[in-house]
Amino acid sequence: MPLLAWLAMGVGLQTPDTYTLLREAMVRQHIEARGVRDQAVLNAMRSTPRHLFVPAALRDAAYLDGPLPIGYDATISQPFIVAWMTELLQPSPSLRVLEIGTGSGYQAAVLSPLVRQVYSIEIVPELAAQARERLGRLGYRNITVRAGDGYAGWPEEAPFDRIILTAAPAAIPNVLLAQLAKGGRLVAPVGPGRNQELVVVVRDAGGGYRRENVGAVLFVPMKPEKR
Ligand code: SAH
Repeated sequence: MPLLAWLAMGVGLQTPDTYTLLREAMVRQHIEARGVRDQAVLNAMRSTPRHLFVPAALRDAAYLDGPLPIGYDATISQPFIVAWMTELLQPSPSLRVLEIGTGSGYQAAVLSPLVRQVYSIEIVPELAAQARERLGRLGYRNITVRAGDGYAGWPEEAPFDRIILTAAPAAIPNVLLAQLAKGGRLVAPVGPGRNQELVVVVRDAGGGYRRENVGAVLFVPMKPEKR
C-alpha cells in the first residue's frame, strides 16, 4: 500500500483521495498480481469508485478484495472476479452488452467506459431502482437498467455482442444463448448450489457455440424463472 494511504488510514482519514490510493493498491495487489493484463480493464477498475456502490457502513471495506452484502440476498462481487470476467468478455468500444444481475450496478459501471452500451436486468425491483438512481447520479450515460427476469433476456434489444451473468443459473439459459450475436461471447458462473464453474461461450460466425470452463467461482444463485 502506498505510504500516503497507509498514513491516512492510520489517522482515520477517509478523504476521496484516500479512496483513490486504496483503489490503486487494490488493482496492483489483487488484480494485476493475479494475472489480469488488459490495460483498458485495469484502467476501468482504477476509475470506478466501488466505495459508492456499497452500503455507506461498508465503505472502508470497499477496496479489500472480497464480496460485500448489498441487501436483498445480493452481493457486490469480489473486485478480482469483476476484473477477470470483464477481461474474459473482451470488451471493445463498438459493442453492446447484456448483463444479468445488476445488483449494485458496479459491474455495469466497470463495463461502461469499455463498450458502447450496457443493458442490465435485475430481478429485485428495489435494487434495480437503486442502481438506476446511483448510476445516473454518478454520470453513467450508456447503461440502461430494467427490473425483470434475466431468464427472459432482453428480446427488444437482442442480439448482444456480449452477455455477462453475475448470478449463477444451474445451466446457461437457451434464451440467452439465442440472444448472443454471431461472433459474440458470453461469460457466466454456472452450476447448482455452491458447485459453480466460470464458463465462457463463444458463438462463431456460422452460429455454432463453443464452451470452455475457466475456473471455480461462487456467485449467488440465479432466482428461478417465474412460471
Ligand atoms: N453485478 C452485481 C452483483 C450482482 S449479485 C454488482 O456488480 O453489484 C447477483 C444479482 O443477480 C442480485 O442482485 C440478484 O438479485 C440478481 N438476480 C438473481 N436472479 C436473477 C434473475 N433471474 N434475473 C435477474 N437478476 C437476478
